[in-house]
Amino acid sequence: MDLDALGFIAFTHASNENRQGVGPLAPLIGIASPKKYLEGNTVDQFFYVSSGYVDGIARAGGTPFILPLMTIPDAPYRRMVEALDGIILTGGEDTAPHLYGEAPQHGLGEVAYERDLAELALIRLAVELKKPILGICRGMQILNVALGGTLIQDIPRQVPGSYQHAQKGSKQYGTHTVQLKPGFLASAFGQTEVFVNSSHHQAVKDPAPGFTVTGRAGDGVIEAIESENGLMFGVQWHPERMWGHDGTMQKLAAAFVDLAARKQLNNR
Ligand code: MN
Repeated sequence: MDLDALGFIAFTHASNENRQGVGPLAPLIGIASPKKYLEGNTVDQFFYVSSGYVDGIARAGGTPFILPLMTIPDAPYRRMVEALDGIILTGGEDTAPHLYGEAPQHGLGEVAYERDLAELALIRLAVELKKPILGICRGMQILNVALGGTLIQDIPRQVPGSYQHAQKGSKQYGTHTVQLKPGFLASAFGQTEVFVNSSHHQAVKDPAPGFTVTGRAGDGVIEAIESENGLMFGVQWHPERMWGHDGTMQKLAAAFVDLAARKQLNNR
């Protein structure tokens, strides 16, 4: 095999120049990747992330990077966040309720405390370094908690008359609508109502200071938040399961990549 023909030699000798040369249309988007044991292996933990996040960012013209949620002391998050132009916080487990000042209620699911701590560190740095964040499902919830908001621990128990937000069956298709107020998301989609999938039993209760609720389901459950500084967004649904076949959802990936590109230019 001719490595030079593959661009291997040029690539390995030009890494710093390459970073400078990344154009505004190809911002680096870190996709937070937790770790877990894979079935049948209780020895090794593996970082993992759904390919949907990665593919959607690449399809939108971004450069996806898998961002490991390390749980070792002094993990080098600062260098990683400095290098990135935007961060996606992905879906997953519940957030430990003591992080937002509550005792555990019946209906609280599995929490991932070490992951919480890793993401809190990441979010603090992203805020400090003014990097855009898109929080998806759990990602929206931990973003809200990190910045001082609270969560509903279990929608079926705490929201009378709520929809079934944990949809059965094909999770890549919409199940309920979300009404959007004017903001980044409504602009991104170009419409004030979106049809979304739903795989959550928790939701934002009180939005963090500096955040506005910009999306709700018909039962009142909060489905979208946006920071007033225009850098942080959360959606309670899973666009990454939809945007491969749903052009409306792909507009969110495009809008986030575009924002990251504009901020990248501003930060130079
Ligand atoms: Mn929902």
